[in-house]
Amino acid sequence: AKKEGRSGFQFYAESMNESASERLRMEHDLRLAPERGELILYYQPQISLTTGEITGAEALVRWRHPQHGLIPPDRFIPLAEETGLIVSIGDWVLGEACRQAAIWSDAKRPVRIAVNVSARQFAQETLTRRVQETLAAHGLDASLLGLELTEGMLMHNRAQSVQTMHGMKALGVELSVDDFGMGYSSLAYLRDFPLDVLKIDRSFVLRVAEDRTDRALVETLIGLGRALELTVVAEGVETESQSQCLKDLGCEIVQGYLFSRPLPPDQFEARLLSGERV
Ligand code: C2E
Ligand code: CA
Ligand code: CA
Ligand code: CA
Repeated sequence: AKKEGRSGFQFYAESMNESASERLRMEHDLRLAPERGELILYYQPQISLTTGEITGAEALVRWRHPQHGLIPPDRFIPLAEETGLIVSIGDWVLGEACRQAAIWSDAKRPVRIAVNVSARQFAQETLTRRVQETLAAHGLDASLLGLELTEGMLMHNRAQSVQTMHGMKALGVELSVDDFGMGYSSLAYLRDFPLDVLKIDRSFVLRVAEDRTDRALVETLIGLGRALELTVVAEGVETESQSQCLKDLGCEIVQGYLFSRPLPPDQFEARLLSGERV
């Protein structure tokens, strides 16, 4: 594991073009970010293609750094994963999403919030209990929380994954498989996971309207979701033609810049309260 850490460090330093001391400083800052109130969740609406209504939202973390401004997750989640800081950041994300979801629920605008779970978090035996405690602490109905898991983390230790997922399902939270199609799930394995939602990765949506192969692939993924009785969500929808194409192929729910960028809480709330349809 130490070796992995070292090569991971080099990869990070090179790819981000940052010196070792810069990285250390960033790690130090990131460690303190949750308690300093520098993390913030943005919410991206998920829209029903049949009703045009908001069916839920994905919570996406950002870091408001006092010197560097708003830092997107791609710039600090990899470091957080490498250093293990992702566990405390993930805890913060879970707590904040539940706190916010409870506020919207109490305001008679219940909306299910899905949070991204990292591999390290998912591997923790205590995760299910943490989720249960967090829901209880905020008095949030479990049906208003979703967890997004990636294929890779599910496949890593399949027996353990199935067990953890059953624990979560028993609580009543919704389980999604994120970035679907990018990993290496086979049908048989997928069948064993107690999933609710299949999220089709943006890379498939990109050319769905122009490329016959991509269209056929998306059609297959949607059919697969149907066969497994999962709700299918397409992400990264940017154009009207992509949206129409997905609708024609039977996709129920979409998420993407065409409908809305991820929004800070107040803007998402305004949109939610307006009840505006797309
Ligand atoms: P993801 O889970 O696949 O999230 C979707 C990403 O696609 C988000 O990027 C979102 O802003 C972006 N996106 C949404 N619609 C569109 C679109 O129409 N076009 C394009 N080009 N992009 C779109 P974001 O917020 O930068 O997050 C990037 C990744 O960081 C996420 O990918 C997720 O893997 C990770 N991440 C974000 N928040 C968290 C978190 O709280 N915990 C963990 N562990 N990872 C997180
Ligand atoms: Ca996600
Ligand atoms: Ca995704
Ligand atoms: Ca993605």
